[in-house]
Amino acid sequence: MKIALFSAQKYEEEFFDQANNQGKFLFKLKYFEANLSPQTASLAKGFQAIVCFVNDNLCALTIEILAQQGVKLIALRCAGFNNVDLVATKKADITVVRVPAYSPYAVAEFSAGLILALNRRLHKSYLHTQEHNFSLQGLMGFDLNNKTVGIIGTGKIGEVFAKIMTGFGCKCYAYDLTENQACLAMGVKYLALNDLYKHSDIISLHCPLTPATKHMINTDSINCMKPGVMLINTGRGALMNAQDLILAIKEKQVGFLGMDVYEEEEKLFFKDLSDQIITDDVFARLQTFPNVLITGHQAFFTREAMKNIVETTLKNIKSFLEKKPQNMII
Ligand code: NAD
Repeated sequence: MKIALFSAQKYEEEFFDQANNQGKFLFKLKYFEANLSPQTASLAKGFQAIVCFVNDNLCALTIEILAQQGVKLIALRCAGFNNVDLVATKKADITVVRVPAYSPYAVAEFSAGLILALNRRLHKSYLHTQEHNFSLQGLMGFDLNNKTVGIIGTGKIGEVFAKIMTGFGCKCYAYDLTENQACLAMGVKYLALNDLYKHSDIISLHCPLTPATKHMINTDSINCMKPGVMLINTGRGALMNAQDLILAIKEKQVGFLGMDVYEEEEKLFFKDLSDQIITDDVFARLQTFPNVLITGHQAFFTREAMKNIVETTLKNIKSFLEKKPQNMII
């Protein structure tokens, strides 16, 4: 079977080639560096299955073009599927599968890393010491012990994150549509969303992007939070309204912001733009704040996660071919 892989990075090609050979899948893999969009969807001609990632644009028009090219399967090599128009895939009779879990540890540990870096200004002190500035001025942090952490979404990643933060001596609060028994057992207390906002020193987002969660972090919700709150987003960029965050940072209502995801990241992330002008003024403004730490959607990026993503994606394609599809998105 011929498979087209969009938004392909060199490091992924190595993992896919190795797993394809070792697992004796014997798929014919073709790598396209281009993001999938209506402009690039015609590249899928002659491929029965395509493999996509978080910033591929699987809108209704892309799906229509894919269907015309004969694509029968979209295998997402990620967990989130907010970038897929599922009404369009159903209409076009294209099956969509994903990797529901690959390493909750990767993302949860990275979220804790953002907290530590922001709190203790590690991103600043690295630059200071490189310039032989060993003054501690401006680098004071706070103990995490006894601080309150609000976790929004206590699924696989939120649960691991709760365990890590409990280990630091934090009191964890949570908000979710359903309570996680493992979180309750480790002492996490579920609160109404506004109460979580009101009582948390740090708030970390681990829920999916849906119509209900889009821009949930906005001026109104930020104004319910403790002044100087630390916000961490390793979920999806559009969970936050970035313009509202800029205002809140300027007013010092938000004291720290760690973000691995950004609503308009599609035009920026996973590319080397170091010799180019950034035209996104909101992103550029966020980068100017000393208490904002931005990373380029790298929370998932561990060896273990990559191995699981690739193996599950190839198994998903094989099971589709055997007419026993696994990990389908309903
Ligand atoms: P999961 O499905 O195990 O957990 C998501 C949790 O969010 C569930 O408990 C669900 O009930 C809850 N939820 C759903 N709607 C909610 C709402 N309106 N309010 C509060 N909670 C709600 O998913 P997961 O594996 O823990 O991943 C969580 C999210 O993390 C993914 O949807 C994805 O967007 C993001 N993610 C980011 C990266 C990265 O590299 N930055 C990697 C993987 C996943």
